[in-house]
Amino acid sequence: MSDLVDLRSDTMTRPSPAMRRAMVEAEVGDDVWGEDPTVRALEQRGAALLGKPAALYLPSGTMANQVAIHVHCRPGDELVCESRSHVFFYEGGAIARLSGTQVRTLEAADGFPTAEQIAAAVRPDDPHFPRSRLLVVENTHNMAGGRVASAARITALANTARSHGMKVHCDGARLLNAAVALGCDPAELVAAVDTTTLCLSKGLGAPVGSLLAGDAAFAAEARRARKAFGGGMRQAGVIAAAGLVALDEGPALLAEDHRRARALAEGLAALPWADVDVAATESNIVMLRLAPDRAAPLLAHLAEHGVRAAQAGAGRLRFVLHRDVDDVGAARCLDACRAFAP
Ligand SMILES: *Cc1c(COP(=O)(O)O)cnc(C)c1O
Repeated sequence: MSDLVDLRSDTMTRPSPAMRRAMVEAEVGDDVWGEDPTVRALEQRGAALLGKPAALYLPSGTMANQVAIHVHCRPGDELVCESRSHVFFYEGGAIARLSGTQVRTLEAADGFPTAEQIAAAVRPDDPHFPRSRLLVVENTHNMAGGRVASAARITALANTARSHGMKVHCDGARLLNAAVALGCDPAELVAAVDTTTLCLSKGLGAPVGSLLAGDAAFAAEARRARKAFGGGMRQAGVIAAAGLVALDEGPALLAEDHRRARALAEGLAALPWADVDVAATESNIVMLRLAPDRAAPLLAHLAEHGVRAAQAGAGRLRFVLHRDVDDVGAARCLDACRAFAP
């Protein structure tokens, strides 16, 4: 159904005409041999955008996060993150499977633990304990509803962790959404962390791929881990070309997604059966709470109106705005919700 309004995720974006053209025309080589000029161009562009010396192109955000964790942590080490973090919640147990690292979770309503919580979670240097090795922060925070943390806040968290000898990784799947919401340079948001990811395949609209950035020594180790995890790709310029176009076209469109998300949140908040925190709708994600037994009927009602949303826990639905949903599509979603009679 071509005019389906698909708000399940910003991964639902289709490659734009310019991306498809760039893919057809991409110059390529064997990237495992370091010979794909388009991948190299994307990695250099990503490093500059993220303010880090080096960046790697990987097939997915999950692999980018897990490669970073694998490079930072040894088996038996401990990683600290918020309890609904993607790395812990949505990556198939990969931290345990691939790195033998254990996770200590902290609760934070908006997705960002305080510096005090982090300091309190650090283990003493004693053979009874695992080593506290890594803090992972997620900006924007998906399951908290696309919440955004400022550079000052990330810097405070990172400095606390680093003062205890920990490394800091940012899951920046939607880092550009955070930068656009704050009106700042994305590099500022990750200046205090050691490594960061950036998904090209979410709101930026590329069909495939994520970037992982850090210093040169990290990048060299990450290349080895990427190969070992099966992420060494050959003529990957074919897909990296779309990533370059995503970086050209995408960022300017994110502000529109945020505006539509806010308008949708405001419209939903006026419905008597819906609980939406408008002020907490800071980027492109709208979280709707409702009575748990109404979630499935609402999803079915929306589907009848050509609108799709996703379940995000019991009594909670997620609507994600992205470049393939325009004002008409967003209005169709709100109208369909208004017509819902629970
Ligand atoms: C989507 C996402 C990822 C990685 O996703 P892939 O589907 O593996 O590319 C990582 N972190 C967050 C917060 C995400 O939303």
